[in-house]
Amino acid sequence: MLKSDKKSSALQKTLSLIDKCPTCNAMYGKSAKKMSISDKNTHLVHVTCHKCQSNFLAVVLEIARGTSTVGMVTDLNFDDLQRLYKIDRISLNEAIEGSKFLNKKDFTKYLTK
Ligand SMILES: [Zn+2]
Repeated sequence: MLKSDKKSSALQKTLSLIDKCPTCNAMYGKSAKKMSISDKNTHLVHVTCHKCQSNFLAVVLEIARGTSTVGMVTDLNFDDLQRLYKIDRISLNEAIEGSKFLNKKDFTKYLTK
């Protein structure tokens, strides 16, 4: 129980560090929409800036000695994140097929204007 409380505290501390928009530098403040999806020790945190409407996504991993966080500016809104999080992961074979398709010499004929 104590160990779990420590992890929760570390996660809360990490979340408190996500306080400024990387696009316009506005402080998110308490009114920012910080929404998260959690699965065991992995948390996806999504924030939409109230000033510039840019979206920021952070992946927070709880590890043995605290947390590890990777963040990025994204065009995904929270609804997109929820939808994409639920779909099945692609298989290795699907990734290979996709790579082969993208490397075709005539790939550009499949692009539309
Ligand atoms: Zn902003």
